Amino acid sequence: MSAQPDLAVWDVPLRTRFRGLTRRDGVLVRGDAGWGEFSPFWDYDDDVAVRWWRAAREAADEGWPDPVRTHVPVNVTVPAVDPEHAHRIVRGSGGCRTAKVKVAEPGQPVGADEARLEAVRDALGADGAIRVDANAAWDVDTAVARLAALDRAAGGLEYAEQPVPGVDDLAALRRRTHVPLAADEAVRLGDDPLAVVRRQAADVVVLKVQPLGGVRACLRLAEQVGLPVVVSSALETSVGLAAGLALAAALPELPHACGLATAALLADDLVTDPLLPRGGAIEVRRPLPSPDLLAAAAAPRALAERWGARLAAVRARA
Ligand SMILES: [Mg+2]
Repeated sequence: MSAQPDLAVWDVPLRTRFRGLTRRDGVLVRGDAGWGEFSPFWDYDDDVAVRWWRAAREAADEGWPDPVRTHVPVNVTVPAVDPEHAHRIVRGSGGCRTAKVKVAEPGQPVGADEARLEAVRDALGADGAIRVDANAAWDVDTAVARLAALDRAAGGLEYAEQPVPGVDDLAALRRRTHVPLAADEAVRLGDDPLAVVRRQAADVVVLKVQPLGGVRACLRLAEQVGLPVVVSSALETSVGLAAGLALAAALPELPHACGLATAALLADDLVTDPLLPRGGAIEVRRPLPSPDLLAAAAAPRALAERWGARLAAVRARA
């Protein structure tokens, strides 16, 4: 077997359309500590991608802090599908006891969200946890009304993730609903991640390793924020997911299931033993990329050149 290079550009299909994408691509980099993943979406500019690069270099050069747990509970994600399909997804989730349900899909009739939530509750049972994600689709008044209706349909919501855009709206909504709120975009895309805390705008924060610059950066942020953390993926391969798992495994407290059960959204992975849930949790480990799978997923020349140029630009800013 020939020696592996220290850089591999990969390109794999998605099983279902996500974020308007049908494929996912990126770069693996190898250092003394192992492989890191650098896979910022193409709509992020080089200044934003610098943080993603720091996360990849941390994985490759330093590795991650020691875990305090061996398994990380994860949620199943239910897209804006019909009730029968939602039921099937939850039943086939590898034992997940928490479901994250997409709501407020444009074009769907009023009542579709309620029907989906009732099906998810039926599939999960009374002791499962249901959270909704509206991807900032509502204004504050709409969110007050919709969360009350969805909370009833679900038989109780664990929390609602970013139902409205921005910190100001989250803070206003939080004073008008008893459903707990989670901040995602307000932490990740804002200039000031701590504004959520100062404004008492959320009960939970969602942290993602690559967008926030690495496992250690997220651990520092979690300490400053002082709220329960849910670690979510950025739709990485299992090489990148391992960093999210390392963060979730190193947090002193982990009261909620994490959004790391996304390996199955990729039709191909770069490791032979992907980070998939069993019994509702993912085992904390760091699978090695397989040379054969890296070769099979190798990006075509034009895409590899595009990543080479992007890497050069991002490194110049790092
Ligand atoms: Mg989100």
